[in-house]
Amino acid sequence: MQIVLLGPPGSGKGTLATDLVRIYKIAHISTGDIFRKNIKEKTPLGLEAESYIHQGMLVPDSVTIRMVEDRLTQPDCNAGFMLDGFPRTLPQAEALTDVLARRRQPLTAVLNISVSDETVIERLSSRRVCSVCGRSYNIYSLIPKVEGICDVCGGKIIQRADDQPETILQRLRTYYDQTLPLVQYYTDLGLLIEVNNEGAVGSSTDFVMSQLDARLAREQA
Ligand code: AMP
Repeated sequence: MQIVLLGPPGSGKGTLATDLVRIYKIAHISTGDIFRKNIKEKTPLGLEAESYIHQGMLVPDSVTIRMVEDRLTQPDCNAGFMLDGFPRTLPQAEALTDVLARRRQPLTAVLNISVSDETVIERLSSRRVCSVCGRSYNIYSLIPKVEGICDVCGGKIIQRADDQPETILQRLRTYYDQTLPLVQYYTDLGLLIEVNNEGAVGSSTDFVMSQLDARLAREQA
């Protein structure tokens, strides 16, 4: 099963991806996580990506596409994968279509996760993350057992640099300008599944599973 998750920042892509990769036993490829790991380790890729990310802009396509193509060659992708945060531009989507055709591993579905702008702003400004394992928290609704410390790994909980108010608005603008056109691209390919993710964390997982299972059953019929 090969899935793409589309949706604005703060729409809950990461949380849904974490559930689905566990259920379907497929690789989780989050381009944001790969960039953040490289920034932390101060690799050449991290140094190049850092200023774009902190301004709420997209990392250039040439860099991002090469990075994802590389990741897809790792053996854990042979059993399927979930792309979380890629593609985000039309050239990225076209490059993905080409690379998957070469790999004979076509997309099963594209989940278009929608939430209102108000929800995005509210969720991102109250989001905190573990600096070690990346787990998400929320200062109102998902509070760690010990303040400032991750329940899972004991790492320090921080606010992401790009979750500051001005950067959140820029990330939303970037989404509307560059990523929204992909909804039409994938609708035309017959791959789009609409998912309203306005509700509580985890509330759309069952709906998504039923849609994916129906699609797999049709493919196998
Ligand atoms: P995310 O964690 O998915 O919100 O990504 C954090 C940031 O990483 C984004 O705001 C972009 O600056 C960068 N980024 C992640 N995925 C991509 C992509 N597919 N293309 C370009 N930049 C990306």
